[in-house]
Amino acid sequence: MLQLSYDEIVGKIKEEKGLSEDQIKEKVKEKLTKLSDLISKEGAAHIVANELGVKLLDPLNKREIKIERLVSGMRSVIVAGKVLKLYRVFEFNKNGRSGKVASFLIGDETGRVRVVMWDTNLISKMENGDIKEDVVVRVKNGYVKNNNGFNEVNVGNQGEIEVNPEGITIGTVKEAGSAPNFERKLLKDLNSGDAAGVIGTITQIFEPRFYDNCTQCGKKVTLENGKAICKQHGETEKGEAAVLNFFLDDGTANLRCVAFRDQAEKILGMNTGVVKTANFETIKNDLLGKQFLIFGRANKNEMFNRIEFMTSRVEEVDPKQIADELAKVIKIDV
Ligand SMILES: [Zn+2]
Repeated sequence: MLQLSYDEIVGKIKEEKGLSEDQIKEKVKEKLTKLSDLISKEGAAHIVANELGVKLLDPLNKREIKIERLVSGMRSVIVAGKVLKLYRVFEFNKNGRSGKVASFLIGDETGRVRVVMWDTNLISKMENGDIKEDVVVRVKNGYVKNNNGFNEVNVGNQGEIEVNPEGITIGTVKEAGSAPNFERKLLKDLNSGDAAGVIGTITQIFEPRFYDNCTQCGKKVTLENGKAICKQHGETEKGEAAVLNFFLDDGTANLRCVAFRDQAEKILGMNTGVVKTANFETIKNDLLGKQFLIFGRANKNEMFNRIEFMTSRVEEVDPKQIADELAKVIKIDV
């Protein structure tokens, strides 16, 4: 959630950086042009402010984020979850500095993440039994780091952990390992072979193609003497599925993505039968500028020497949320 209006953001930049309103508006315009007008004016102003180092939000007032959406490098995050497991408290002595570190695992409806505490006051909450299994905690002012492919929320002496905070309920915690553990990444950081979740705006979309598939498993079938043959199911009932190519842009880079079957339908917002009869220009105009959270795998296409993203799951997201997340990440990269 962006808490400031466009004029308020411009006002803040003006006040802190001494730029004229025209200069600021020019920068916002540049940003909008760069992102092909696909983010809101407020979102662009927000990014400009962050690039200039103008702090718009009170760090303690920032929006809470779901575990799945955590990205390595984020700061001042607020995340809540149910405590699933406590780990041992370790004492360390490193470079003449000694202290304690302790951690526990939390989960929400979207995922699980380890919370690592570097502050004795916070750790004492675990030692005295306030932080225990099945309580809900809200971690404030944490920073996200990647450790061996997993995100961890670190909290130091600037951080805060509330136990059973008011007004927070956590639904059924997502099963561990029920889905591949996708790490959220910026497009510029995506490498071939990465399984990742990326958020971006559709900036280009190509007319879908169609193929015959098996109605049991959805995989492609071959036609032999008019019969549909599935590798797994043998002779099968033939269906039809779409394959969709599009470009996603998150402001740091753009990426060619491919989505098949139900994921293609999810992006298109209609089933394959309807797609076939619909006017593609209309579909395209509806989709350009829409924003999605896409989980999948980046593969190198050797023939074209480019990275392509194979979509395995799609979620539509709130554009303002993206601007907010992007602003957070961009800020720490500057
Ligand atoms: Zn099959």
